[in-house]
Parts: sequence; structure tokens; C-alpha cells
Amino acid sequence: MNVCDMTVAALSALLRKREISAVETANAFLARIAERDGLHGAFLTTTADLALRQAARADARLASGENVTLLTGVPFAVKDNICVKGVRTTCGSRILSGYIAPYDAFAARRLLDGGAVLLGKTNMDEFGMGASTTHSAFQITRNPADPDRIPGGSSGGSAAAVAAGEAAFALGSDTGGSVRQPAAFCGAVGLKPTYGAVSRRGLVAFASSLDQIGPLTRCVGDAALVFDAIAGHDDGDATSARRRLPPLADAVGREVSGMRAGLPRELLGDGIDPQIREAVRNAARRLASLGVRVEETSLPALTQTLGAYYVISSAEASSNLARYDGVRYGRRAENCPDAASLYVRSRSEGFGDEVKRRILLGTFVLSAGFRDAYYQRAVAARARVRRDFDRAFADFDFLLAPTAPTAAPRFDETPDDPVRVYAGGVCTVPANLAGLPAMSVPFGKTPDGRPAAVQLIGPAFGEEVLIAAGHALEQEAKA
Ligand code: GLN
Repeated sequence: MNVCDMTVAALSALLRKREISAVETANAFLARIAERDGLHGAFLTTTADLALRQAARADARLASGENVTLLTGVPFAVKDNICVKGVRTTCGSRILSGYIAPYDAFAARRLLDGGAVLLGKTNMDEFGMGASTTHSAFQITRNPADPDRIPGGSSGGSAAAVAAGEAAFALGSDTGGSVRQPAAFCGAVGLKPTYGAVSRRGLVAFASSLDQIGPLTRCVGDAALVFDAIAGHDDGDATSARRRLPPLADAVGREVSGMRAGLPRELLGDGIDPQIREAVRNAARRLASLGVRVEETSLPALTQTLGAYYVISSAEASSNLARYDGVRYGRRAENCPDAASLYVRSRSEGFGDEVKRRILLGTFVLSAGFRDAYYQRAVAARARVRRDFDRAFADFDFLLAPTAPTAAPRFDETPDDPVRVYAGGVCTVPANLAGLPAMSVPFGKTPDGRPAAVQLIGPAFGEEVLIAAGHALEQEAKA
């Protein structure tokens, strides 16, 4: 097997046995990117020189046997809203097209300290706003499973890189589904950790109360490995959890018999493509055959999550994106006679339509006279969503649901109407609103041959349950 198509675990074993060097591995991936990325468009920036320098250092570690981790010498990619010092970080936006990050994001630093090798930065919907990776100022990304289809988004570049063997794993960010949905569309595993489990320091903020960094990988075991490397407390993020997390890798292969799983009725209704409903029902049957007690359940507040999510995320975005005014960060409009026109023109020229739409929406819902009607109501709905989950997790170890209402559409099938696009987040946004861990796991193919996936949602800091159940499902999908 080509090293580019191996799991992180398998590649790491070869590196540690020194059957292949980190430099050879990095070169294999760089060659794969050169061969395939013209078609896929997963990368916005490749860091070949940096990768080869890091790989040489990884080889020295592997040779001495000192400071060797499971990720030493393993090549990875990072979504372009996660900072790596000295590397261009655009967030898929014209306004940051020349921005060079002055420090490393905590999660990226953890990986680099462990000896992982950075291949580059991946394409995304501008500032994470979107679900198709067609809202990037620079390029589109194609789904490696079928280049006529979207890869999903907003972490579409990371998902495509992993699915195409252009990186052994990748980091994405998930505010309302942006790790899980592209993973589902491309046939990869995508884990959104519990809010606070992974530091957000160095993740360019979209909606700070919802954003989380998470891994995209080729299998559930790899998601556990990467999570273990990036999770943990960071004083540089005021919302970083202090709790000590047990290694997730230990949950791989754990017995699932006796677990209780709930199927929320609200996420299996009319809006869900029958092919996806069938995949979820099939996954439920397989889990039941392994001794999991699966039952339908109801979380009525899930019908209110989309409205609450788009109000809260846009409100937070309108405030977070206020810093891009041409003064300190990013692109500055030329020949402006005064400060006001500098702000207006820098922002008008720098942001794309979807970002402008969110800023307008967010500013509106926070404005005097409308705040109570929109923002406060959304906050109240969010509290109801949390309560419904609390109640559900008194009865169930995890919930099983679709990741997205459909499998990957073709480019020419993606709707223009933003409200229809927003509706695609119905299955993923609940976990963000409640801060819960959730993972998308590939589960076979739809009858028409597209990657199918299911989503597991767990209680706060219950990632281990997701890994155990997700791994069991992955084995069933192979069987
Ligand atoms: N598609 C959702 C949105 O556009 C989620 C994006 C995300 O998770 N970054 O807001």
C-alpha cells in the first residue's frame, strides 16, 4: 500500500520501526499533492520546505528514540483559519490574503511539538461561513469521491486532503458542522470535540461560543490519536476546560454491548433524504446486533436549533469580524481620503457576499429594539436545546443521527437560496449549541454510490463513548 493511503496508526508504526523515513514519507505526500491537487484544490498553501525541514528533525528523533510520539514524522494539513507561525493564514478571504500568522495555534503547536510534519493550509468557505467550500475567495475544492460533487464545508479542503491521501490527517474547525459534514461528504471521519476540550487559541474566531477545532481522519482510531495530541488545558483560552481527559485511544475496540443509544425523531423526519434515513436505520440495526439497546426518542427543541444557531453565530461573527477594517489586520483599500472611507472600502472590497450577509444579519439581531426579539430569544432556545440533551443523556449513552440531510450534491445541484443552504445544518448545529462532542463516521455508500455517514452525539466530555461506538460501527461497515 502507498504510504499516502495508510491510516495514521499504520504509518506511525512503519516510521517507528524505521521501515520508512519521515523525509521519504513527506516526499511521498508532496508528490501526491503535486499529482492530484490540481484537480482537487484542497490546499491554498503548501509548505514543502518547512515540511522537509520538520521531517529531517523527525528522523533525528526517530533515530535517537527520544521524544518519539505516535505522530512523529506523520504529515498533516491544517485548515486555513488555524494559525501556524510564519505561514500565510487567509481564512479563505481576500481581506486576509496577505496575512502571515505571528504565532502558532495551540492545537497546531501540540502537533508540531509531537513531531508531526505540516504539509500546508487547506481551503475553506470564507471565515468558515458555508457548507460547500465554494465560498472561498481563491478556489473551489472538489470531492475526491467524485470531482463533480462538492466536498462539503466549511473544512472542505481538509476533508478532501484526507480523502485523497494528500495528508495523513487534517485539522478543521466546526462552528455548526464544518468538520462533520465535509467528513461525511468525502468519506472521512470528523470529530467535533466538547466545547473547551481543545484550545481555540490561534483559531481565527467565527462564533466564539460555538467554534471548536477537530480532527479529520481516515478512521475512528486515528481521530482518537489526533484528539489525544491536541486536547488539554491552555491558559491562553479562557474557555479551555481544566478537566483531565483519559486517552481516547484506549476506547478503540471497547465493548459496546449494554450501551444505550437514542434515535432523535426530530432528525429523521421529512427533510432527510430517504437514502440517509436508511443508512441511519441500518447503523441502528448493526449496533443493536452488537448488544446496544437502541430506542427512538424525542428532543422537541431540536426543531428550533437552526434559527437559534444563525442568530447567535451571526451576532458573534459581526463582533468578531469588526477587527478587519484595513487598519491592523489584512488588506487595506488604497487611496482613501479619510478613515471612514478606509473602513468602508477595505471591508466592501475584502469580504465576500456570504460574510457580508452574516455581518448584516448579526448586526441587525443585536441592534437596539431588535435584540430581545432575536438575540435573546435565540439564547433562550439554546438553553432549551441544552435541557433536552441533558434529559436525553439521563437515558442514553449516545444519540445516533444523520450527519447531513443528504449525501454530497453535485456543484450544479447546490441551491443558491441561502436559507435552503442553512437548512443543511439541521443535524449538526445542535451539538454546537449545547457544546457537546459529536462525530461523523462513514457508513457504507448510498444506493447511488456516494459516501454515506452517520453521526454520534455524546454527553459533554463523553468523546470516549463516541470512539467506542464509532469504532464498532466502522468495523460493521467493513464486514
Ligand atoms: N454551515 C454552517 C455555517 O455556515 C456551519 C459552518 C461551520 O461550522 N464553520 O455557519
